[in-house]
Amino acid sequence: MADTLTDLIVYQSSLLNSRNGSCHGFSTRAGGVSNSPYNTLNLGLSVGDIPENVHKNRELFFQALKSDPQQSAQGIQVHGNTIQIVDHPGVFPATDALITIRKNIPLVIKTADCAPVILFEPEQGVIAAVHAGWRSVVKGILENTIRIMVRDFNCNPENIKSAIGPSIRSCCYEVKNDVSSRFPDDVILWENSKSYLDIPKAIQLRLIDQGMQIENIDDSQLCTACNEKLFFSHRRDKGKTGRMMMAVYLT
Ligand SMILES: [Zn+2]
Repeated sequence: MADTLTDLIVYQSSLLNSRNGSCHGFSTRAGGVSNSPYNTLNLGLSVGDIPENVHKNRELFFQALKSDPQQSAQGIQVHGNTIQIVDHPGVFPATDALITIRKNIPLVIKTADCAPVILFEPEQGVIAAVHAGWRSVVKGILENTIRIMVRDFNCNPENIKSAIGPSIRSCCYEVKNDVSSRFPDDVILWENSKSYLDIPKAIQLRLIDQGMQIENIDDSQLCTACNEKLFFSHRRDKGKTGRMMMAVYLT
């Protein structure tokens, strides 16, 4: 970890890096050019930041991944359950998960508390990027992404490797009954009559339910809301904040 946050900090999963065939990174707020409250590596264009700064930040992040934002594919995220199979760069309407078998097209998810999830099947050469907020998780976006990987691309769930990036976690994610009632009891923590959602655990359980191996799931264990220096958090910053990116591409 750098002492100052003037240098770019990008998290990677050692599990995904243990296999050849893909490259990925989870951005932090360190190392960019934006001013407060978007300081400094805000990668979201629609949060009120100066567009020139966001474009500069995106260049810096993609440079670190030896890639190019112009080659990326991203969805306009709506907390839904729509999955796009992509074979060219672009922006796809109403999309919260992307799948590709094409090399050098970074699949991008933007977050500021929701969990970014990577699925990589090295035998078949398939990657997926999922925007896993609680709504999409409840709607079955993880199950549906894996089903498409299996049905359309011959993936074996036992071979899929997954990384769960920085997200809000049970330490900070108080939810009311309208949310907690949609999740199993073992992902809800109770403290002083308040309930807290463990969304990474909910994701893990659903991935295992689809036939994935627990040792093939790498949870970053990083909480966006606790780590103000490193992460934007929609909940903590009451909506006035930047966005991180997760990008993954086949090499
Ligand atoms: Zn926390």
